[in-house]
Amino acid sequence: MNALISVSDKTGVADFAAALVALGFNLLSTGGTAKLLEDAGLPVTEVAEVTQFPEMLDGRVKTLHPKVHGGLLARRDVPAHMDALAQHGIGTIDLLVVNLYPFEATVAKPGCTLTDAIENIDIGGPAMVRSAAKNWKDVAVLTDASQYAPVLAELQAGGGKLSDKTRFGLAVAAFNRISNYDAAISDYLSAIEFDAGSADGAPVRTLFPAQSNGRFIKLQDLRYGENPHQQAAFYRDLYPAPGSLVSAAQLQGKELSYNNIADGDAAWECVKQFVQPACVIVKHANPCGVAVADGALAAYQKAFQTDPTSAFGGIIAFNVPVDGATAEAVSKQFVEVLMAPDFSPEARAVFAAKANVRLLQISLDGVQRDGDTPWARGQNAMDVKRVGSGLLIQTADFHDLKASDLEVVTKLQPTPQQIQDLLFAWQVAQFVKSNAIVFCKDGMTLGVGAGQMSRLDSARIASIKAQHADLSLQGSAVASDAFFPFRDGLDVVIDQGASCVIQPGGSMRDQEVIDAANERGVAMVFTRVRHFRH
Ligand code: 5GP
Repeated sequence: MNALISVSDKTGVADFAAALVALGFNLLSTGGTAKLLEDAGLPVTEVAEVTQFPEMLDGRVKTLHPKVHGGLLARRDVPAHMDALAQHGIGTIDLLVVNLYPFEATVAKPGCTLTDAIENIDIGGPAMVRSAAKNWKDVAVLTDASQYAPVLAELQAGGGKLSDKTRFGLAVAAFNRISNYDAAISDYLSAIEFDAGSADGAPVRTLFPAQSNGRFIKLQDLRYGENPHQQAAFYRDLYPAPGSLVSAAQLQGKELSYNNIADGDAAWECVKQFVQPACVIVKHANPCGVAVADGALAAYQKAFQTDPTSAFGGIIAFNVPVDGATAEAVSKQFVEVLMAPDFSPEARAVFAAKANVRLLQISLDGVQRDGDTPWARGQNAMDVKRVGSGLLIQTADFHDLKASDLEVVTKLQPTPQQIQDLLFAWQVAQFVKSNAIVFCKDGMTLGVGAGQMSRLDSARIASIKAQHADLSLQGSAVASDAFFPFRDGLDVVIDQGASCVIQPGGSMRDQEVIDAANERGVAMVFTRVRHFRH
């Protein structure tokens, strides 16, 4: 039995090759890999010796030869194929281990030049992988170091043989890898706005290339979709942005559902933006309680107070580790999913008794919360919405609003405390479905009005929510995700006790609304930025 090994990522390959030798495989290999295997004391033949042709053109041509591809592609059950191999002195290759030049990692480096990118396009590797995967009935193909252990276990149990099912599975994984690799190359090149400097320098790239590949990897099938009669699965971007829900480790609990994931994402993206310890409780895609405080427990208690009725069965996210005391407090309510960057051993012990609660641990490493750009957050900071037979794609709704960006439009200036409350209300309103009206005070939400067709109704609902929770709106700060088209919505929130308001401005009737604020003695600031969320 012959195995050809040619890998760029050499992790674990020497151990795997040693185990293959122990199973009776002869090793064939390319320059760098052969050297590594030799240094590990393994018997190995260089491909150049087999082809009687040196590796050439700086490695651009190493394995592109009939002695290699014949050995991979010949059907063992077709006598004419085997005769042809014999006639030309070609041996079969039964196992192929290839991982490709690191194109994706190379182009992810800042300042990567077009020349560097091009040199990292693997040619012979994908060709071999395709040959082996096409001939999956006779050849096993490994394209990732994570496959070494399970394949080795099966080879050892089967005396050097793998089942048809395993070889087929490896071939599918191999074609997926090649398809993603080609998609990465095509995406990278399609986005280049070519000019004279592109050939040697770091080329300028557009966010929305003319051609775009759907690059998603399946994470899991879901039991059903938004409703039980819908089928569903969960996929992740090929290159996820740091700190995304897709990289969550589920520590315990029932399987995640479609709605868990959708709501979990809303909670996680909202909590992630706060620098202070924060807690966000989400129900049906809208925050029903958000708070910041000096610790997780206090943040949870404040967030829960906003709307204890809706918080039942909620999705709860923290941007700081959950400790034992916080876990005790949270476990008193019915919670579907709990997300945090970490859980202390005491917190784990509290939830161990509640086996159904889904605990998701998501690292916040690499998440910048100040002054970063969508690109810094990862190439996939895009919103995608399906319409009819098409897609709407936009950059995600990131906008860092600073106190210095606020435009005071009333006679009354907001106090520093009010500015803090306004900015907090604004951060929350971004994550509330439009039309959004959010009452806040002292780093907590007091009433959230979400998803109404009229801003006036959102204002009324936010007020009713506060009444239900016995929270006073006296002196509160109010955020509106888009401008007030008339003064009536503003009058409602002032009637309820609002003392200051933050909104984008830009209505034809801004003056009417500003006059109303002045007449009623509240401070109002314009952001000149809108946060529709549909
Ligand atoms: P090594 O480190 O063994 O010298 O090279 C291993 C890498 O070479 C692997 O990533 C493999 O995919 C790649 N490779 C193997 N054959 C060829 C070839 O003929 N042309 C090119 N461009 N790359 C090859």
